[in-house]
Amino acid sequence: MRFLELANTYDQIESKTGRLEITGILSELFKKASPEEIDKIIYLTQGSIAPPHKNIEVGMGEKFVEEAIRVASGLRTIKIVEDEYKKTGDIGKAAENIMSKKTQESLSSNILTVGMVFDSFMKIAHTSGVGSQDTKIRILIKLLNSAEPLEARYLVRFPLGRLRLGVGDPTILDALSFYRKGDKSIREELERAYNLSNDLGLVAKTLFENPDKIIDFKMSVFSPVRPALAERLSSAEEIIEKIGKCAVEAKYDGFRCQVHKRGNKIEIFSRKLEPMAGMFPEIVEAASKYIAAEEAIFEGEAIAFNELTGEYRPFQLTIQRKRKYGIEEMSQVFPLKLFAFDLLFRDGTDYTKQPYKARREALSKSIIENKTIAVSDSITTDDPAELQTYFEDCIGRGLEGVIAKDLEAPYVAGARKFAWIKLKRSYKAELADTLDLVILGYYYGKGKRTKFAFGGLLCGVYDDEAGVYRTIAKIGSGFSEEQMVELELTLKQISEKEKPRQVDSLLEADVWVEPKYVITVAADEITRSPMHTCGRGKTGYALRFPRMIHGIRADKGPEDSTTVNEVVELYGKQRKVTVE
Ligand code: AMP
Repeated sequence: MRFLELANTYDQIESKTGRLEITGILSELFKKASPEEIDKIIYLTQGSIAPPHKNIEVGMGEKFVEEAIRVASGLRTIKIVEDEYKKTGDIGKAAENIMSKKTQESLSSNILTVGMVFDSFMKIAHTSGVGSQDTKIRILIKLLNSAEPLEARYLVRFPLGRLRLGVGDPTILDALSFYRKGDKSIREELERAYNLSNDLGLVAKTLFENPDKIIDFKMSVFSPVRPALAERLSSAEEIIEKIGKCAVEAKYDGFRCQVHKRGNKIEIFSRKLEPMAGMFPEIVEAASKYIAAEEAIFEGEAIAFNELTGEYRPFQLTIQRKRKYGIEEMSQVFPLKLFAFDLLFRDGTDYTKQPYKARREALSKSIIENKTIAVSDSITTDDPAELQTYFEDCIGRGLEGVIAKDLEAPYVAGARKFAWIKLKRSYKAELADTLDLVILGYYYGKGKRTKFAFGGLLCGVYDDEAGVYRTIAKIGSGFSEEQMVELELTLKQISEKEKPRQVDSLLEADVWVEPKYVITVAADEITRSPMHTCGRGKTGYALRFPRMIHGIRADKGPEDSTTVNEVVELYGKQRKVTVE
């Protein structure tokens, strides 16, 4: 396929807002792709060249991309490129405008294909060391030399990570599901394959090569499984009423780890499915020694733990283990303990389809006793009073609460289901749970705060049905001075000239940003408000007295934020409490 076809499609997508329209455009594109290129097309459409967990980035500095544009367009000075960039505020448009002024005779007759562009980006990603910048610039110049102006617009956005088409994974799955087996849609099977591999390129390639393999898709070690998530209820009674006799596990407040093992090779994926084995050497060592299986995928929560006193350290301390430097020292001072809570795969057997009790039994049998990995603490009960006592006991031991688990439920990858129900400590007169909000924009400071040029945040929640972010609160408190400076520096780098397409807002922000970062917010109450777009029907929902209680969450991506449906549910529960 010509790269121009992709560029034309991206251009069309940029002018559309409806998810249905975008799905239609993408499915037309996919129909024209061969099995050899469909995965490349999908990664490129996601703004990347590999699934997110592989951590492969095209990555070039802005100055080097500008230099490539200068050379490819035959300009003598960089100033014209810089001026055009300033004028348009978009490196892609700048490249397009400059390239369209290039004289006809200097245009190359080479035609760019998707494969050529993809391979060149792969080369850029894998070039490192001395002189690598020059090599990267040369590769980009070569592409630009063969590019039409519209192609140039997109070519330069990749190395800067700025494709930002705003096409979410569910939209890509919808577009792929034009492919039917007989007269049956295989949307569900596609979704399952995606949840088991987190790799839309692989899913699409498998589909194009042999759709039967999608129906019988197998997970594999070192491809992360999208995590199962917990619903919430507000009392022990409600939990027993909902799922009856259940397992109740301690809820540890650390990081979720998905451990993959083949022999002595270990990878650990975070909740966001980023590889993290390098940060947790003690878990890697224990997993290679004390897991009684050649191949396994299991999950647990890692928390800094004092073996001598049996004390769980607070999250603020555990989080310090996410670091680039001083890893060995910190692993000595604050060693982690992994409380394993689920088994997904072991030596060829897919455990996700088995009920919780079978998985738990197999998990216990897979762990040889040691001080770093243990099975999570739990009881089994159908008595609300016993559940409540266990919950209080957990709180007393410094834990976050409990998670009740349906004994008969399979592991539901990538979904929030009542198979797991969390019960956390709640405070009177406050919302029982905090919300994870996406930062959509920010405001400049007034008065005392002007010296930081930062006054507050416009935040939203994710509407997972429409694939858009909707506003719920302006947040002006809970930040330390240090955090304000840091927030402004971080957000400036992802600022957008206009409101991003996937943001639905009635309010204006002083600066819009790409929906990327998630913060944790507490509030007194959820109220109805016509100012905000979070909600079904006409009136939105807003937070009363919102305050940031945890800065940018390294472990959550924008689609992991609280959803509109969850807000509606929380609102419903809160009313019930006031009536009582
Ligand atoms: P939350 O992030 O509040 O929605 O709670 C769900 C998270 O609790 C999971 O993603 C895990 O990281 C964490 N967790 C801690 N202990 C457990 C447990 N025993 N079972 C399942 N998840 C747990």
